[in-house]
Amino acid sequence: MKTLAPSGNSDIISSYHERTYYWLAIVGAAVLFPFSLNNFLQGRTLLGIGTLVFVLVLAINARSIGRGGKPPVPTWLVFCLAIASVGISIKTQGVVGLFWCYPALALMHFLLRPRMANILSGVLIAVAAPLTFRYVGADVAARVLATMVAVLAFNNIFLGIINRLQQQLYDLSIVDPLTGAFNRRHLLERVGEMVAQHDRYGHPVSLIMIDVDHFKSINDELGHGAGDKVLVGMVRKIQERLRKGEALFRTGGEEFVVLLPNTGIRDAATLAESLRKLVEAESLLPGRPVTISLGAATRGKKEAVEDWLARCDAALYASKSGGRNRVSLADATPGTEPPGVREEVENK
Ligand code: GH3
Ligand code: MG
Ligand code: MG
Repeated sequence: MKTLAPSGNSDIISSYHERTYYWLAIVGAAVLFPFSLNNFLQGRTLLGIGTLVFVLVLAINARSIGRGGKPPVPTWLVFCLAIASVGISIKTQGVVGLFWCYPALALMHFLLRPRMANILSGVLIAVAAPLTFRYVGADVAARVLATMVAVLAFNNIFLGIINRLQQQLYDLSIVDPLTGAFNRRHLLERVGEMVAQHDRYGHPVSLIMIDVDHFKSINDELGHGAGDKVLVGMVRKIQERLRKGEALFRTGGEEFVVLLPNTGIRDAATLAESLRKLVEAESLLPGRPVTISLGAATRGKKEAVEDWLARCDAALYASKSGGRNRVSLADATPGTEPPGVREEVENK
């Protein structure tokens, strides 16, 4: 299988971070606000101010996320404030201040990237343990150090397992189980990304549509199992031929799409022709050649995805109606190379 584009998955994780952050910030602000007031009432002004600033920052960030924006105060800075507040709390209230260390450790691993979560967890432990030693006592400090390191280790172990499971589920969700090619759902994701890159940087992007010729007769004459084997063998051959960044998708029964970033129509045509020859030369069925028809299209400037796909589909249709086992290129749109009319790649 081709390497997955990491962006799809990291988008899932980052939207999950924001939703989690929204609710945690609201709960955090609501829980801490009475403690902030109590600190002022008890004359612990510095701690009262620290907690109040923390509550305000959480409220501001939650409001911004609730309105669809990004949190204005970066999450790592929020945790720096939390660490400072915990430090003041241990200094002024002793052992009571330590209770806040444990939710802070847990939250860091849910809301920050693993590296930053581990760095700030280390800072929290480095602040809490010596302050406990100084203001509470060596006995408690030793236990604080041991339990906080244990919580940090558990966080890493559990989140490592969750991340691996999530990655496995994601991989399963984008792959066609029969052939191992990516599925249609993932094609739409990847096309969206490629289109955004094309709009931004202008590098040419192309796609090739592939349809197996007379596949129904293979099924009818040799059985569905033989048809399946043809699909599996063909996908393996094509995937071996593709380069890094190029990807093959199964869009229907015996229909496939190849996505080609940084590829103009000439290179797409060359690759399509080589795929056609590759499949024709491969003995996918004993004593009977299997052939494919192909259509290739490069995206025009600002061209809508549906129009691009429709042009490619029309090129594939031209290959079918022109006799099958051939490659056709879509009509060029303004802004693509080369300008002009439909071409057919002579293939025999
Ligand atoms: P053409 O050359 O015009 O493309 O003709 P064709 O026979 O390839 O096209 P048609 O669309 O008539 O037939 C496609 C067949 O693919 C029909 C369907 O039963 C079969 N098919 C769809 N999915 C699968 C699958 O997963 N496995 C197998 N073995 N066959 C499948
Ligand atoms: Mg078909
Ligand atoms: Mg077919």
